[in-house]
Amino acid sequence: MGIVHPVLYPHGSDDYWMSHAYHQALLARFRAEIPVGAVLVGEKGLIAGGHNISISCHDATGHAEICCIRHAGEVLENYRLINTTLYITLEPCAMCATAIIHARIKRVVFGASDLKTGAAGSVMNLFRHPSMNHQVEVCSGVLAEPCGALLSHFFSQRRKQIKAKKRLQRQSLSSGR
Ligand SMILES: [Zn+2]
Repeated sequence: MGIVHPVLYPHGSDDYWMSHAYHQALLARFRAEIPVGAVLVGEKGLIAGGHNISISCHDATGHAEICCIRHAGEVLENYRLINTTLYITLEPCAMCATAIIHARIKRVVFGASDLKTGAAGSVMNLFRHPSMNHQVEVCSGVLAEPCGALLSHFFSQRRKQIKAKKRLQRQSLSSGR
């Protein structure tokens, strides 16, 4: 999957902040969550970070973006996150895209595209929906390769674990236990 570390990129660049989001995704992976991470950045730098917590918190809304937006609201003591950029390792879903619009985030930068549920152009584009009164700038494909590799590695490992579990179940059934 290669090395993704902030020191490799010019300070303050999109790659630099995406590498912070990538590290949030690694935290999710260590906690056996789907590895997606996000950071919110303002004029003075990093405001907040978040990663997926859906499985451990039994929370369908526990996506990285939602966690990051909640944390940032607490930090700024404001639910409007104006003049900020949200870096996400994966294209946001419809729920998160809507939350981004409600929070008045200025710019969204994401890594890998989500061809199944992406709401920033892959399946639909809520950021360009004519009925939305807040327009969000979108930049895609930043560190897309390592961000996507983290996810595909996670899912291939999970498939292997499920197969191994099924094999064990079959073995215990055939041995009459
Ligand atoms: Zn989402």
